[in-house]
Amino acid sequence: MQAFILYSSYFYSKQITFKKVFVSNKIGTVVKSTGSWYSVRLENETKELLECRILGKFRLDDLPLTNPVAVGDRVEIDQTDGKAMIKKILPRSNYVVRQSPRRKHDLHLLASNIDQAVLIVTVDFPHIKPGFIDRFLLMNAKFDIPVTLVFNKFDLYQSHHLDVLEEMKSIYTKIGYSVLTTSVVQKTGLDAFKELLKDKCSLLSGQSGVGKSSLVNAIQPHLELRTGEISDYSGKGQHTTTFAEMFELDFGGRMIDTPGIKMLAFSDKDPRNIAHSYREMFAYSENCRFGGSCLHRSEPGCAVKLAVETGEISALRYNNYLGLLEETEDQNYWERHKEDI
Ligand code: GDP
Repeated sequence: MQAFILYSSYFYSKQITFKKVFVSNKIGTVVKSTGSWYSVRLENETKELLECRILGKFRLDDLPLTNPVAVGDRVEIDQTDGKAMIKKILPRSNYVVRQSPRRKHDLHLLASNIDQAVLIVTVDFPHIKPGFIDRFLLMNAKFDIPVTLVFNKFDLYQSHHLDVLEEMKSIYTKIGYSVLTTSVVQKTGLDAFKELLKDKCSLLSGQSGVGKSSLVNAIQPHLELRTGEISDYSGKGQHTTTFAEMFELDFGGRMIDTPGIKMLAFSDKDPRNIAHSYREMFAYSENCRFGGSCLHRSEPGCAVKLAVETGEISALRYNNYLGLLEETEDQNYWERHKEDI
């Protein structure tokens, strides 16, 4: 019996030694995710790209997520017998989530650990969807991520477009966001766009057709951005979804591209949370009779409504806010519009 115990403890210790030889923990950054697989770029000198799966369950503040690991996450990898597994997500400095395009009660993590977010738009080529800018700002408001709006295709703007541009510039710069204008055709604003991205980790978004790929190619040739959406089979049928991807920039910095975003919805948000995320409204809300619980709709003594009437708060932003509030409270909204999301 004693011999058996001795033998088994010897065997056990051998097993442990055996395991130690083949297990190694490495740190890397998630650069791409396609649902169940994650591409992780190692931080060591090899800069090797590993295709990983997830080990165990990860949660984010107990929120229901469709994808627990985001592009931009720094992760610990367990590499055993040639298989690479993500076993730990290192603490995030921030993250960006939106409502899942597939499941209305779930959230989709778009990216994490970013320095800034950049939204490419045009005044009319294609026409910007009402409220899209504000939704994008809202998405980045939780961690106060700096946002720059890039108005592209400036060469196509006629005088009425320029009026819109000026109005947009004045609305958004007044509340602390940056605005750039660019034209890939006339090669204007490209240096400023490059400077914006240099040495930072930037989330880059824009509705299809705004010229995002052209702009990025103009400052970083040969980068292959995906232009459409990627299909993924999810048991219930064929779906399209957005998979972010991180690219290294030759001139310094990294960019997380988010292809295929048509619309942003936030049915998970508390209406008060939305009110507080409109930064200029939040600033005025301390003067509302109901303070932080005022939703600035029909409450008496609302300082925000007064500021809209006097023009201190943009009526455009305010109306977008009311629309978003209504949509968020209307749980069926998602069902009617899921084709657009
Ligand atoms: P994406 O879907 O946002 O990646 O858009 P693309 O980069 O594919 O561009 C969509 C179309 O807009 C293409 O035909 C581009 O040549 C055109 N385009 C891109 N930037 C500009 C610009 O600054 N001016 C004009 N006139 N056309 C542009």
